[in-house]
Amino acid sequence: IHMAILVTGGAGYIGSHTVAELLDKGEQVVIVDNLQQGHRDALLGGKLYAGDLRDADFMDTVFKENEIDAVIHFAANSLVGESMQNPGKYYHNNVYGTLCLLEKMNEYGVKKIVFSSTAATYGEPENVPILETDRTLPTNAYGETKLAMEKMMRWFDTAHGIKHVSLRYFNAAGAHEGGRIGEDHSPETHLVPLVLQVALGQRPHISVFGDDYATADGTCIRDYIHVTDLADAHILAVEKLRAGGESGIYNLGSGTGFSVKQVIEIARSVTGHPIPAVIEARRAGDPATLIASSERARVELGWKPKRDSMEQIIASAWKWHQAHRDGYDK
Ligand code: UDP
Repeated sequence: IHMAILVTGGAGYIGSHTVAELLDKGEQVVIVDNLQQGHRDALLGGKLYAGDLRDADFMDTVFKENEIDAVIHFAANSLVGESMQNPGKYYHNNVYGTLCLLEKMNEYGVKKIVFSSTAATYGEPENVPILETDRTLPTNAYGETKLAMEKMMRWFDTAHGIKHVSLRYFNAAGAHEGGRIGEDHSPETHLVPLVLQVALGQRPHISVFGDDYATADGTCIRDYIHVTDLADAHILAVEKLRAGGESGIYNLGSGTGFSVKQVIEIARSVTGHPIPAVIEARRAGDPATLIASSERARVELGWKPKRDSMEQIIASAWKWHQAHRDGYDK
């Protein structure tokens, strides 16, 4: 029988979906979340410790009370716009928080970490689709902190043998098929939940941020991936490390891009709602096209997205939003 997996940020969107899959696999799960963005109700099980990674006494309790053999690290702030206004918050929560975590792991002899990274580490892409070997020049402070966290893990591997798998996600969307957990950010800034809030009548229209990009219909193209497929990749990454695998970096995307207009069109057909759209100015820092090559994850982790139609992704999110109009709190 395996020892426990510590999931930091396990009450957040991607974290809670990963906890759900781990529980399904029969894993013992310990969650650390300061509940700044996370929701208690997003946890379908596991043992929650409500507190902060930067609180050394708190983290001692977590490591002493549980036999942890691997960490999956989601806990971080993740809003691009906010990171440009307040980069200090991102260096403090993300970079210093990760430093505290790695030092505790080293102190307690925990040698495996799977890390929630992002396509924002690349910045403006050199190639489409993006490869893990492409240059990393983040265009925002959020991406810069995630890149700094990856680099920190590399030196903790060299010095202390802590192995890491860093997963660079593209656009996570969708909700758990059981219908009990889904996406609930405050404030909400992501395209899919915002479009569905329009379909629910909670917003008058969706704003399209620019229609003069160098793409077929002029709107930005993104690579959307179902949150449960992302969750599965974390479990494969833990298995690779448990089997003695080396550290590595992997893109996670579907390899297919959808424009903002295409996403809205699919949401219209899934919901049966007209979803009015208004063209507005571009949003700062948005590259025209972001599409992943996930070839490395397929070959080395054996990962294959199973829920890869955009209709299916949006339909699963729609089911959640209809049943939880005001998210977890109501
Ligand atoms: N977007 C938009 N209107 C919105 C929110 C997002 O047009 O109200 C666009 C955004 O400019 C980007 C795409 O939708 O091109 C996906 O944005 P999101 O914030 O969901 O994810 P990101 O790509 O920033 O991680």
